[in-house]
Amino acid sequence: MDTLIYDGIIVTLDERDTWYNPGYVFIKGNKIREVNSGQPPKELFSQAKKVIKASNKLVMPGLINNHTHAAMSLFRGLADDLPLDKWLDTYIFPIEKAFVNEEFTYWGTLLAGWEMIRSGTTCFADGYFCEDGAVKACLDLGIRAILAQGIIDFPAPSVLDPKKNILHAEQFLKKWQSVSELIIPAVFAHAPYTCSDKTLKFAKKLADDYQTFFFIHVAETKWEVEEIKKIHGFTPLTYLYHLGILDQKTIIVHANWLTREEVNIIRDTGVKVVHCPESNLKLASGLSPVPELLDKNILVALGTDGCASNNNLDLFQEMNTCAKIHKGFSLDPTIMPAKTVLKMATVYPAQMFSLNIGVLKKGNFADLIIINFKQPHLFPFYNPYSHLVYAVHGTDIETVIINGKIIMEDKKLLGINSPKIKTNIYNLANKIKLHLSPNH
Ligand SMILES: [Zn+2]
Repeated sequence: MDTLIYDGIIVTLDERDTWYNPGYVFIKGNKIREVNSGQPPKELFSQAKKVIKASNKLVMPGLINNHTHAAMSLFRGLADDLPLDKWLDTYIFPIEKAFVNEEFTYWGTLLAGWEMIRSGTTCFADGYFCEDGAVKACLDLGIRAILAQGIIDFPAPSVLDPKKNILHAEQFLKKWQSVSELIIPAVFAHAPYTCSDKTLKFAKKLADDYQTFFFIHVAETKWEVEEIKKIHGFTPLTYLYHLGILDQKTIIVHANWLTREEVNIIRDTGVKVVHCPESNLKLASGLSPVPELLDKNILVALGTDGCASNNNLDLFQEMNTCAKIHKGFSLDPTIMPAKTVLKMATVYPAQMFSLNIGVLKKGNFADLIIINFKQPHLFPFYNPYSHLVYAVHGTDIETVIINGKIIMEDKKLLGINSPKIKTNIYNLANKIKLHLSPNH
């Protein structure tokens, strides 16, 4: 649908960091046709099938969440205030074994997608099991996504025999590789401590064979560093380097514990990094040296991680935490300025995934959001980057457009049956509660 949005504050995030007040955006089909300052020419009003007046509103590229486990929204608040190993071994892995199937992933991803769209995320990267359910949910939601089938050397949901995990992931890639222009199927190896060297090499080769992305959690905790050192003689990132699986299509998540040489390995191999500050803080895992990585021109993007370790998928909140935590740790308030952090959720991930999104410019896919700025916590207005990182809440998002299609208008999600999602989530959560009741 051709849509004209006018009289708004337009934040383009282009190479010159152009923003207009007022300005307009004209969308033709699924792409942005024109972005400019002032009022639009009269003919655009007659060409547009839909006209949105955005006075006192800000229009910007939709946010990109670069690491989550969407279906884990069903585990929100299930087990908190625990270290990663106890959290995984006592709660997450056993409950996943008992409950996760395609239906679980479908409803969990619908819930996560609902929350993400509601808070201004128009594209996300996911890694989980039974990912067929995630694809189906994303197609129903109309959200853009990179969906990676999980690989782990334990009996996992839908792959009881770990020897078949690569084959299962291959079937996933084959099945969904051309399903929609909004979906990129990919591969997610859980971690160096849960996958053997053989599994890691095969998983990366599979991703290469299908010319897609390979995700892996790396160097999340100090424990992992010691464990990998003990077993393989190297720290985790160096170990992966020796396995030959680091390249431009490898995306490492967390990267909290890196040596100086490992930062250089990341730069030299073209590996991309996803930073999940809130999950890392909550699990007390550590903090990635993001300012140092950015200084070396390494692409770093933001992720929320799953809802079980965050416990929400609001990227505005994540940006706020990201900007502040590095200042606090380094005792340097000039580190991680708002504009840089905003780019970690828009421009950088678009480059990471080679997608024409993340910037409002002619020819890019029309993935954008409109935020209501007529609210006490957003008065007065001097600088858009400051408000977007330090003051906006995910709940301020009013309208969401993905691939030219209006997905949410005036806070109403179109085409999503929210009562049905709630009923199914309620039923699944009740089963989990019953299962947990002896321990709770
Ligand atoms: Zn994760």
